[in-house]
Amino acid sequence: MSIVKSKIRTIPDYPTKGILFRDITSLLLDPEGLALTIGTFVDRYANKGITKVAAIEARGFVIGAPVAFQLGVGFIPIRKKGKLPAETVSQEYDLEYGKDIIEIHKDSIQPGDKVLVMDDLIATGGTMIAAVQLLRKLGAEVHEAGVIIDLPDLGGTAKMEKELQVKVFSICEFEGH
Ligand code: AMP
Repeated sequence: MSIVKSKIRTIPDYPTKGILFRDITSLLLDPEGLALTIGTFVDRYANKGITKVAAIEARGFVIGAPVAFQLGVGFIPIRKKGKLPAETVSQEYDLEYGKDIIEIHKDSIQPGDKVLVMDDLIATGGTMIAAVQLLRKLGAEVHEAGVIIDLPDLGGTAKMEKELQVKVFSICEFEGH
């Protein structure tokens, strides 16, 4: 959606040279932009039988929690290794240089849960694929992945659909990386 897209700021060479950082803080700061963003997800996912919203640290939390609240369901944080206090399951995934691990609380999923998984942005898909794998390890059905921004040239959305059969819904796209 072009109004949402127009409120996302691009910071060149952050955090490293050559990266175009798509900064949602300018969107979150704008009341119309924030309401449109959350409202778009709530309209899409209302009455779909979703029982929980899971989101990835930290920017995913900012959209995942209000969407869960509006849908009237619970929220599940997916965090970097070592941040969740109770018993967890882990998933390793590849970064551009090296590897990382994300975790979820073991007791966050019950049989029959149908989960919406959210983040601010999908690029190569590494983070989102690991999140879906975590949810599936616990027995959840993943309804869809919802993001504000897709960078389709980096292939994450296509990979999610081809390898995991999970559709990615994005409010806007940016070309390149
Ligand atoms: P990926 O695992 O490659 O799909 O990367 C997605 C994660 O990295 C998300 O949590 C994003 O917040 C972050 N990210 C990757 N590329 C960008 C970018 N160009 N601008 C802002 N955040 C990004």
